[in-house]
Amino acid sequence: SSSSKSSGADPVMSKQEMQCYDGTDFPWSREVEQHLNDLFHLSKFRPLQLRAINLTLSGEDLFLVMPTGGGKSLCYQLSAVCSKGFTLVISPLVSLMEDQIMYLRSINLPAVTLNASSSKEQAKTVMAGMTDPKAPFKLIYVTPEKIAKSKLLMSRLEKAYNASLLSRIAVDEVHCCSQWGHDFRPDYKLLGILKRQFPKVPLLGLTATATSSVLKDCEKILCVPRPITLTASFNRINLYYEVRTKHSDNESSINDIASLIKSRYQDQSGIVYVFSQKDAELVSSELQKKGILAYPYHANMNPDDKSQVHRKWTSNKIRVVVATVAFGMGIDKPDVRFVIHHTISKSIENYYQESGRAGRDDCPADCIVYFGFSDIFRISTMVVMENVGQQKLLQMVDYCQNVERCRRSLMAVHFDEVWDDEDCNQMCDTCCHEKDYTTVDITQHARQVVQIVELAASMDEKLTPLKLVEAWMGKGPAKRRKMIQTTMLSRLQAEAVIVRLLLQGYLREDFSFTPYTTYFYMKLGRKASLLKNQTHTLSMKMRTVEAGSAVVSICWPQYYPLLYYMVAYRPPCTIKTFCL
Ligand code: ADP
Ligand code: MG
Ligand code: ZN
Repeated sequence: SSSSKSSGADPVMSKQEMQCYDGTDFPWSREVEQHLNDLFHLSKFRPLQLRAINLTLSGEDLFLVMPTGGGKSLCYQLSAVCSKGFTLVISPLVSLMEDQIMYLRSINLPAVTLNASSSKEQAKTVMAGMTDPKAPFKLIYVTPEKIAKSKLLMSRLEKAYNASLLSRIAVDEVHCCSQWGHDFRPDYKLLGILKRQFPKVPLLGLTATATSSVLKDCEKILCVPRPITLTASFNRINLYYEVRTKHSDNESSINDIASLIKSRYQDQSGIVYVFSQKDAELVSSELQKKGILAYPYHANMNPDDKSQVHRKWTSNKIRVVVATVAFGMGIDKPDVRFVIHHTISKSIENYYQESGRAGRDDCPADCIVYFGFSDIFRISTMVVMENVGQQKLLQMVDYCQNVERCRRSLMAVHFDEVWDDEDCNQMCDTCCHEKDYTTVDITQHARQVVQIVELAASMDEKLTPLKLVEAWMGKGPAKRRKMIQTTMLSRLQAEAVIVRLLLQGYLREDFSFTPYTTYFYMKLGRKASLLKNQTHTLSMKMRTVEAGSAVVSICWPQYYPLLYYMVAYRPPCTIKTFCL
């Protein structure tokens, strides 16, 4: 299913006008169809591809928003073949350009690149070809830096433009323009020069993740007023989304991952995303010990090793890549059956992108994320300096802990997509296991937590999230003895309550820097004082059975009335002396 919409308040084109562009009665239609089959060896278009091609061939400026793997490149590659001269493609990564050029040459579509590693000789050929009316190549890939820095390139483009040989400009990963996007590249900021210098050339911006505010920003930066925006649905119907709780010991999640790979994904290929280079090494060696063909991949490996891992994985000689986010752009293996996140992503957009590498062949695939309490603060440390980094992280945390809403619906909100819960079709764990969740009153728990945080503040003591959990559970080291109420909740439940309080503003994170690291502390949030009001209540839905291999016994009120009594209404005599 697909939909289209304009990013502007009033659409540039009506729905009907837009639908005309799905037609096959344009002057170029026969040629388009023929090249699709004979050159690209594809039988039919995916949703919105033909519309995008017809629009750009009609000379319209266009933003095409389509999920990763949706087939955006075809829209400018096929248009390039059907136009005079050449298409200029701006692409953020040299490796990405090289992959594409390799592919294009394999189908006999001449394409070249100009980047920092091009030789003088290559550069010369490319520059000369730009003004050759015979158009020796149909696509020229350049990095945004080249546009910003090479006067020679700009003057060649000018010549080509004047000779009507610059047929189209494609800006791939166009969200890189905006610092509100997840992947800001300063050099993209300078690309406005293209539309100013070459106003008559249609521009095609492509991206997989862009909210309307990011797109608005890109319009301004690229100087394309009111482009038509085509947005394909982000709902990947063949992906099953699941969140599993990660225990504080690292081992059980690795065991869990290993047994999944050995049973459910036997002989299948996938990715395990981890937080750091160290984790990549560690997790992959643990998986290897358990007899799984897993290899690490991270930014600190030398380029040869990286491309070797990539190649071997693509050809199924390696089953699992244990990777940091460095394993990203340009990964286009169709039969990835699972993407497991050993640690949560830093934002929902990132999660969507990373998990979206599963199931590109449209066959069923799983996206599982392990959600651990301490990981929240590990990632906080990393994103604390980013604009809205913290806010985005908390949205990801909300995605993980929220079992009241369909996982897909939470993603749809992010892509400004109208969502109907039926569209999930039981393909996420919350829709699938609705019955395994119960609503629990956590007011008393919240009061206990707030009391501990208040106490720490009154003693001028900094309370890390870990210390808070341990104090609440009665496990803190003896330092100063004070009266607090400890909890009977399991560790995972205690952590879940604290996360909930953080997300809802009863707690907040505070941080301090040292030259080596950033420390996070728990402070009272803006809503904490509401708990002083005896009528204020707070509840949350919780899993009664833990997902994953380890089934944790239920200890929620509905099941154990006596325990509930103990936890919620413990008489004052059971208040323990306790240390923070
Ligand atoms: P992205 O939208 O992420 O840029 P790509 O353009 O790299 O996606 O395409 C992803 C994959 O989808 C490629 O392997 C491409 O060959 C394939 N693809 C694109 N269009 C079609 C189509 N109409 N039918 C089948 N496969 C397609
Ligand atoms: Mg792409
Ligand atoms: Zn769902």
